Formats: sequence, C-alpha cells, structure tokens
Amino acid sequence: MENNIYKFFILLFSVLYVTATTAQRSINSQRPNIIVIMTDDLGYADVGFNGSKDIPTPNIDRIAQQGVVFTNGYTSYSVCSPSRAGFITGRYQQRFGYERNVQHRPNDPNMGLPQDEKTLAEVLKKVGYSTGIIGKWHLGNHISKHPLNRGFDYFYGHLGGGHMYFPELLTIKDSRTASELETYRTWILENHTPVKTTKYLTDEFSEKAVSFIEEQKSNPFFLFVSYNAPHTPLQASEKYLERFTQIKDEKRKTYAAMVSAVDDGVGEILNKLKILGLEENTLVYFLSDNGGPEHRNASDNGPLRAGKSSIYEGGNRVPFAFRWPQKIPQMVYRYPVSALDIFSTVAAVAEIPIEYHKPLDGKNLIPFLTGVYKSRPHQTLFIRKFDDDLFSVIHGDYKLITKKSNKIKELYDLNNDLSEQNNIAKEHPEIVAKLDSLRINWNNELIDPVFLGLIHTEMWKNRKKKTLESNNQRSK
Ligand code: CA
Repeated sequence: MENNIYKFFILLFSVLYVTATTAQRSINSQRPNIIVIMTDDLGYADVGFNGSKDIPTPNIDRIAQQGVVFTNGYTSYSVCSPSRAGFITGRYQQRFGYERNVQHRPNDPNMGLPQDEKTLAEVLKKVGYSTGIIGKWHLGNHISKHPLNRGFDYFYGHLGGGHMYFPELLTIKDSRTASELETYRTWILENHTPVKTTKYLTDEFSEKAVSFIEEQKSNPFFLFVSYNAPHTPLQASEKYLERFTQIKDEKRKTYAAMVSAVDDGVGEILNKLKILGLEENTLVYFLSDNGGPEHRNASDNGPLRAGKSSIYEGGNRVPFAFRWPQKIPQMVYRYPVSALDIFSTVAAVAEIPIEYHKPLDGKNLIPFLTGVYKSRPHQTLFIRKFDDDLFSVIHGDYKLITKKSNKIKELYDLNNDLSEQNNIAKEHPEIVAKLDSLRINWNNELIDPVFLGLIHTEMWKNRKKKTLESNNQRSK
C-alpha cells in the first residue's frame, strides 16, 4: 500500500515537472531575443538613415529600413559612463548619483554602478535569458561591478572608457595594475581572464558577437554589443581605410573607416540572425551612447548644435534605430524617445515584473509604435549636469536650458529651430516658468553625485592644462 502511494507521488511529480518545464520552454521559445548595438561617440549625421553622404552604412541602415528610425532619439546624458548607467537601469542615473565618467579605481567599490540598482541583464537573466556583453563596459572596475557580477553570463571586452584598436598596442596584461592612462592598452578580458587579441578590435568584437548568437540560438538571449568605436584614438586598419580614398581630411577618413568597420560587424550580426531564422523575433536596437565630439574624432552631428558633453542637441540626440519585424512595421517616428525606453520596452515584451519602489523613467514604446497610443511617449525629458551647473528640459516642442544656478535661461522651439539658434526666453516668460517648475520638481527627486569623476584626476587636469596652453599659443 505504502509502496503504491509512493509510486503515485513519484508519477504525479514527474507529470508536474514535465508540464512545468514544457510550459517554461514554450514561453521561452516565444520570448524574443534582444540585441542592443551601442556605438561610442558616433555623430548624429554619420549613418545613412540620417543622411550621411560620405560614410555609407548599408548594414546599419537595414535596421532602419526594416524597422523604426527615431529622428528624436535621446540618451540620458551627453558623455559615456552616465549615459550607459541610464540605459542599463532604465532610470535617470542622477537618481542614484551617477553623474560623472568613472575613474579607473579597481579597489573602490563605490566607483561605478551602485549595487542596489538593477541592470537589464540582471532582470532578463532572472526570467531565463542568456546574457552577454561584447565590448566596452565603463560602469566601474571594482570586482563587484564586473559584468559577470551585474547580470551577464559572458563578457568579452574592456572595463574602461576607451581602447586602442590594434593588437600590438595592447601591452598590459593585468588591467588592475594599469594607471588611468594605461587602461586603453590593457589586454581584452574574456570573463575574468586577460586574453591576447589578434585582430583589429572592432572585428574582434563583431566576431565574438556572432559566436555568442550561434551558441545561444536555442535560448532567448540578450546581447549587448558595445562597440568602443568610433571613440578616440582614431585608428583604422587598411581594409577599411581604402574604402575612403575620396576623403582628403585624414581625421575624417580614419573616422569613416572606423564607422565602416562597425557597419560590417552589424551586417554580420544581422546575417547570422537571418541564417538561424531568428530575424523575425529578435529586437535589434542601434544607437550611440552620446553625440559626436566633432573636433576630437571628426564626427558630424549635422544640423544639431554642439556635440558630446554639451547640453545642446548635439550632446545627446543620437542616431537611433529599432527593428522587430514580427511586431513592428517600418516607419519614421518623430516624437522624442529615450535610451531609457529600451529597459521598459524589453521588460514589457519579456514579461518581467518591475520593482515599483524604484520607478523606471522609460516607456514601453511598443503601443506607441503599433498606433495603440497616439500621444507622445514622453511629455518631458530632462538632463542635469551637476559639475557644469546646467539643466535642460524638453517639454513638447520647447527646450529650456538653464545655466549658472538658473541665472541664465535659454528657450528654443525645436520644431522650428532645430539648431537652437534663436533664444526666445524673453518672448515667452510663461513657457519658461512652466518648464522651470518641471525642472525644479524633477531636481528634487535627484541626489548629488556619489563618486568623483575622470575630471577630478591628474590626467584630466593635465590634459586640460595642455589644451589651454596650446590655445594660448595659437592666439598669440
Ligand atoms: Ca561615448
């Protein structure tokens, strides 16, 4: 008798287990894959879908042609590290004091992404996704900040903000012993292990991204392809340089070649999805982490004013495209959207429960793109630059900029003055007052920066001093 009851329960548990795992498998097989391709310091006008004439990007353009071009796509900051902190948490990074480019401080557990913020990789991993990051991290060097400790199963890249591209220049094996300046020369890490690379770095990253897709083709996966190109140093291999013999300016030529290498990589990633039959049910995002620093890397932000690190449009309005053939038709979408929306959109499509005590600042864009919602996804978008004492508030078509503790106010009508040339603050005091009150309310939700940044290092101060000296020299 006892034996029969025992057998019955064994059978019952087996049936339940098989049913549960089959159900999980079927949920997983429907869950879309997620790929975010983020470039570094790419100019707004340097992709075909935003009108580039001298740098063809046929592969990046495939994402746009088969999906959505966001003409007004913003990141949440205008330099690398805070922008990435915003993207990966889906929250304004000023809420948790992340307002500076991190320093290389492998022994400092407070330098980088706070442990009580959740990354997109962490929440996706929890619901069964395989998670990988290829390329630049830039969210802290302490072991607790390492991608493998922040939700990723696989990492192939560098922890710092930029990197040399040729293998023979990567001469420092152990990144923990490197100085701030030397971090660009360290070996690439595969998970925790330094490895010697053999190829031009962009090619190396593209190849690893394709391998990751091949290896994870049977699971739902999240792949963050975080190219450090076309961030300085300007270095390109002959294969790409020879495509741009018509560009006479050497800097622009090298930059173009670097962008072209990224475009080839994007092509390989998209081809792999197609071959594996994953094209239809994979969300692919393409964007830059901030605007182009036009003078430094010869990028081009087109009609936008200024560039990287600025509070003007060139600082954080970026090339931004999205493709999900199974659900989203081809379109040009003109309402402002944010890189913060990636987290919210992915959370919705992957059915991830959200912690409401830490609100996301992004929106799930799917109902906006399918036409269920006709309104703007964001009534208002904000930036605060603590160290520069700057704010921007985009509300409707208007943008308010405040400087010097709110003593200087500029108001632009972005719909009619994309290049922010006509300050209309004096003509519209009521609009200024309204946007300013939104700014004050938002600022009350933020905290001061919780760590010092790159600008506080000796390396940065020396660089600034040198630039000033050379400017003085020139003006004499
Ligand atoms: Ca950047």
